[in-house]
Amino acid sequence: MTKCSDIKHGDVLVCADCGLELKVTKECQGCSCESQGLMCCGNPLIKKAKSY
Ligand SMILES: [Zn+2]
Repeated sequence: MTKCSDIKHGDVLVCADCGLELKVTKECQGCSCESQGLMCCGNPLIKKAKSY
């Protein structure tokens, strides 16, 4: 799962189903959420690569 606390500035998250890509422009400042991960199309988004 891709929790917001694992995502850093510049990371790109992709949806394997529809091809959606999200780029992080500001990272989590430290939360304690129990998120199931960021979802799209019923599946968790996958961290693709760093792209500064
Ligand atoms: Zn999708």
